[in-house]
Amino acid sequence: MRTAPDRCPGALRVHEAVDGGLVRVRVPGGYLTARQLRALAQASASFGDGSLDLTSRGNVQLRGLRTSEGLGDMLADAGLLPSETHDTARNVVASPLRGLRDMVAEIDAGIQSLDPLPGRFLIGVGEADVLSVRPDLSLVGDRLLVDSRDAGPGTVATLLEAASHFLAIRTTEWRIRELTWDRPLGDLVEAGSPVALGTHGDRVVALPPLGRLTAEVLGRLAAHDVQLTPWRTVVVPRSADTTGLVTDPSSPWVGVSACAGLACAKALADIRSDAAADLGPGPRPLHWSGCDRHCGAPTGAVIRTATAKGYVLSDV
Ligand code: SF4
Repeated sequence: MRTAPDRCPGALRVHEAVDGGLVRVRVPGGYLTARQLRALAQASASFGDGSLDLTSRGNVQLRGLRTSEGLGDMLADAGLLPSETHDTARNVVASPLRGLRDMVAEIDAGIQSLDPLPGRFLIGVGEADVLSVRPDLSLVGDRLLVDSRDAGPGTVATLLEAASHFLAIRTTEWRIRELTWDRPLGDLVEAGSPVALGTHGDRVVALPPLGRLTAEVLGRLAAHDVQLTPWRTVVVPRSADTTGLVTDPSSPWVGVSACAGLACAKALADIRSDAAADLGPGPRPLHWSGCDRHCGAPTGAVIRTATAKGYVLSDV
């Protein structure tokens, strides 16, 4: 039974870190128009450190905030904060390159018509690739999945009805896996692989090193509509300037991730600099962690954990 309150950061719920405030802006499906991307870049430049960090749910974080006064208005003007009551509830990941924007918008509107879902609750849409981030509910093809198990025909309406049912039967649980789902479920559906880096038709899937879109990269991308993915990649038009992003699937950056490092008070080493300096061959996925809490470690990653006596390598 969960007893702690949900402290997931939001656009309005600021988390205080060593480097200043941190806010997390939900981006359902990872879809950002050029105007929204510019608004986020401008917000980060005005309030924070100028960069955007991608999260494992295709959302973005602004960090290093000196103040957040006025930030909510700026985000709301760009359509990035449509509901103050549902700020942290709009967690939807969508398969890249599938043109699911309209369906995601319908789901987003439906989420906002329900009582707020917990900030950890996740909805997936598209193909089986989204199951790799283990959504609570997903629409994969024409099936509704509950914690990756077949639950019958899937439509936006059946998905929202299932979300509503979760809210009705939960007590303190944040995720479906934490409670007993009281409806019949079929087979477990295997997760598919994330989309590869590189060119796919008129789109390019690109990786920002260690999940950070720097101010320089944002300046180059800000004329384009993009899609953020839950694998901390970004889908951009082929015409976009991808300087500063990794598009070669054989790059040593592929499969390397890191936590916030020295921006967190618990970090025992400058893991982000150490990761960038040590990109040699080795296990992938590899996650660099500033302490043994392993925040943001991808499923199945080998973890290099900073300790008071140096790094230790472990499987999780
Ligand atoms: S793993 Fe440790 S150092 Fe890294 S963000 Fe989490 S608590 Fe901070």
